[in-house]
Amino acid sequence: MLVLGIESSCDETGVALYDTDNGLVGHTLFSQIKMHAEFGGVVPELASRDHIIKLPQLINQLLDQTNTSKKDIDAVAYTQGPGLIGAVMVGACFATAFAKSIGVPALGVHHMEGHLLAPMLEDTPPEFPFVALLVSGGHTMLVDVKAIGQYEILGESLDDAAGEAFDKTAKMMGLPYPGGPLLSKLAQSVDASRFTFPRPMIDRPGMDMSFSGLKTSVRNAIKKEVENETFDEQCQKEIAFGFEHAVCSTLSIKCKRALEHTGHKTLVIAGGVSANVRLREQLGTMCQSKRSKLFYARPEFCTDNGAMIALAGALRLNAGQSSTQSVDVKPRWPIDTLEPLS
Ligand code: ATP
Ligand code: MG
Ligand code: FE
Repeated sequence: MLVLGIESSCDETGVALYDTDNGLVGHTLFSQIKMHAEFGGVVPELASRDHIIKLPQLINQLLDQTNTSKKDIDAVAYTQGPGLIGAVMVGACFATAFAKSIGVPALGVHHMEGHLLAPMLEDTPPEFPFVALLVSGGHTMLVDVKAIGQYEILGESLDDAAGEAFDKTAKMMGLPYPGGPLLSKLAQSVDASRFTFPRPMIDRPGMDMSFSGLKTSVRNAIKKEVENETFDEQCQKEIAFGFEHAVCSTLSIKCKRALEHTGHKTLVIAGGVSANVRLREQLGTMCQSKRSKLFYARPEFCTDNGAMIALAGALRLNAGQSSTQSVDVKPRWPIDTLEPLS
């Protein structure tokens, strides 16, 4: 079965073709980052309008690149939520109309389930059951994954998502939007820091997390350095290092608890922040000490993309899930309310 996947929940327009027999056939992506950068964040109305313009172009490009005809497509999967309502609506309407026009079913999928399954696009995919750490711009949660659609939330951030903390901290340091990856680059250019920031909530039992206090500590540190006229490039790098270290250590401690709590021997990390090199290293070391295996997707499939949506849709359709009849978007949609496959 050949599935066309369409992602449009935020500021990336992504399309991909996934074949249930042969895996990923191809994918293309357009990022709206440049358009939103001058506003310092995503402008929802601009995002929706641009998705409408880019979707037909990207699909034509993908079909050309992969030598595929519309007739070869067996189903269309699209992000039904969670996300920006206008952006999700555009993708849902487009996908449903496109599917109708070629006479195939359309299926709405959960954006975070897409992220969660993205490591399965790689050559050595993780096997169920596993613990998943979803770390993105809007979510930070630990999930006990027993099978597709069987998700139990073990813990989550009580305030900012990890990616949001990266972006907001980067903004405080004067880095352009979206600052997360830039902040991480700065952090990697040094190998020590005179700044030690708090690891939020590690002394409390459980697997919930919090990142807004950490952000405040960084703000105070920057303020002090600026007042002392010592906020130079080296200082910026060391603050970035200290911040990244605090986030990664906190996530590592919580992941370790989740492995111990569930008894699972596999940890999967997904979402934009799972592209972070230090996080991968630190979790790799932790997993080794727990005789567990760590899985993640290639960086381009950590952030938003069409491939993860095509994959999630293909797995669900292949298991017999019926198509979505109406265009019913879900800007808020808890992942633990999804339907299991059997
Ligand atoms: P959600 O998936 O929760 O709806 P989103 O789709 O906006 O949110 P993603 O596209 O998964 O989030 O990820 C984007 C986030 O990942 C941004 O906050 C970005 O700063 C962060 N990010 C990307 N690369 C890195 C990196 N190397 N280090 C740290 N953060 C990163
Ligand atoms: Mg994005
Ligand atoms: Fe996302």
